[in-house]
Amino acid sequence: MLITHDTECALSILVELLNTSPDACGSEQLTDVAALDAFVVRQEISEIDSLTPADLRAVQQLRARLREVFSAGSTDEAAELVNAVVAAAGTTPRLTNHDHHGWHIHYFAPHAALGDHLAAELGMALAFIVMAGERERLRNCEAPDCARVFVDLSRNRSRRYCDSRTCGNRLHVAAYRARQRSAETVPSA
Ligand SMILES: [Zn+2]
Ligand SMILES: [Zn+2]
Repeated sequence: MLITHDTECALSILVELLNTSPDACGSEQLTDVAALDAFVVRQEISEIDSLTPADLRAVQQLRARLREVFSAGSTDEAAELVNAVVAAAGTTPRLTNHDHHGWHIHYFAPHAALGDHLAAELGMALAFIVMAGERERLRNCEAPDCARVFVDLSRNRSRRYCDSRTCGNRLHVAAYRARQRSAETVPSA
């Protein structure tokens, strides 16, 4: 798969961002500027100046647009969505080797607002996935009561749940109980 480590890092931020939405987990996780600030720190997003309520709104709006890429019905549709996100970000790709990370490309303009920063970086990560023909790796969790997303980076693209420890196990337990129930109701011969 033609996906670089940098793209993988961006995809991991993307998934974390999408799963903060009330649609994904029942309640808004980015409730205020402080929560957004904590997200930036946790995800080690660089070159972010102080955040405002406008940044919070911009990130919430971006989150909804990025989420659409996971539900796109075709590659054409996904490409159009990605292009719109990246175009709006006003990107300025440049090589950098800050903080001993080695040479890599920043797609966001220097000291861009957080919404534009994420639109450029996460939009480009999605662009690389589409370009690599790997759009099917952008998944919605298959657990019936879960609306979280994930990116399946497994070799055989076999991942079905956002988090096998919770969603996967919960389903296995539910299936086990259902089997037990049906075994109990089957009249013994
Ligand atoms: Zn960097
Ligand atoms: Zn799940």
